[in-house]
Amino acid sequence: MIPVLIVLNAGSSSLKFQVYDTPDSAEPRLVWKGLYEGLGGAAHFVVRHAGGADLDERLWTSGEEFGHEEALIHLISWLREHQEGRKLAAIGHRVVHGGQSFSGPVLVDDSVVQALEALVPLAPLHQPHNLEPIRIVRRRLPGMPQVACFDTAFHQTQSDIATLFALPREMRDRGVRRYGFHGLSYDYISSVLKDYGPRLAKGRVIVAHLGNGASLCALNNGASVATTMGFSALDGLPMGTRCGAVDAGVIFFMLREMRLSPEEAESVLYKKSGLLGVSGISNDMRVLRSKAATDVNARRAIDLFVYRITREIGSLVAALGGLDGLVFTAGIGENDAATRAEVIKGLGWAGLTLDEAANHNAGPRISLGSGPTAWVIPTNEELVIARQTRGVLGDMRSKLAS
Ligand code: ADP
Repeated sequence: MIPVLIVLNAGSSSLKFQVYDTPDSAEPRLVWKGLYEGLGGAAHFVVRHAGGADLDERLWTSGEEFGHEEALIHLISWLREHQEGRKLAAIGHRVVHGGQSFSGPVLVDDSVVQALEALVPLAPLHQPHNLEPIRIVRRRLPGMPQVACFDTAFHQTQSDIATLFALPREMRDRGVRRYGFHGLSYDYISSVLKDYGPRLAKGRVIVAHLGNGASLCALNNGASVATTMGFSALDGLPMGTRCGAVDAGVIFFMLREMRLSPEEAESVLYKKSGLLGVSGISNDMRVLRSKAATDVNARRAIDLFVYRITREIGSLVAALGGLDGLVFTAGIGENDAATRAEVIKGLGWAGLTLDEAANHNAGPRISLGSGPTAWVIPTNEELVIARQTRGVLGDMRSKLAS
């Protein structure tokens, strides 16, 4: 029997999964990946082979009451039907917030569940969805080892000063500090930098994770020293629908002068801002790029996105005391050559020179000359969860017996 583990990434109406073989101490090996979307309504399940070829698909009608619990039960039974010599040994979860106490992945037990629930106020829009499948598995498959892997943990190497807000000390004691997110993605990039040269692995590198959520992370010798996201996943760069950094005074204006409730203000900042809010068209970079030549609002949204990235890179270069490399990753970073070109052109002062042809072909190296180098490196957050889950559990075969 080959032990396998499932990696889960749950959202409000979706459940993404990947299934990994973990036969020995080698790198976990992806077998299948898929997702459930439209949970709570007309749900849709699709699963593919690791190589990308479609394997199976199913649709449920909206009357069928198909939510996260039903999706998990369906996934487990789908796995049983298709496993051929494999057996489920563990489940690894993406959990957005590990707070101050979790500086690495952790085996889930009663006290961990309680501690993670206590962190819901720090990430009210994401944490509850991440915890839901953990609770369901504990109910439905008691005894199944589960490991929580955090988006915040990678940033625990930051200095006290880098994580401090200039707020009264009591607020820090209540957990009001900069945490940083996208840590699973930065962990992956950090782990592969050595494949792109020792100057990157040992040097001062800025990673631009540009997807629907977007942030930058400054790495020194592979460890996080600063990042653009702070207390919540709202800070830093403008994103698909999130505002990024705004003057805190804007929030008082929304509450007092515009008379929005806290929930309404939260919804504006998380769901109606960013590329969507500025363009009034879409949160999707592909759509904005297709309209940028003719629509002034699409162009402004992109220009703001690039301007903020370039400015924040300047800030992180200062935090690092210099720059050896810049890495683009995630949906926009990996696929949108125009955004990469615009950002690099704004960084001539830092010694970066764009290699137009390489950028067009997505690199991996997209810079010329002997100054800092720029790269396109696809991220793999799920693999990091698989590695961390196996790391916590040790020998996976021993989990099969229990
Ligand atoms: P998430 O944070 O939801 O995981 P992704 O990393 O998938 O997001 O990134 C989604 C973003 O990537 C969207 O803005 C999308 O338009 C953009 N994107 C994906 N493919 C391309 C492409 N070929 N060209 C430009 N942008 C792209």
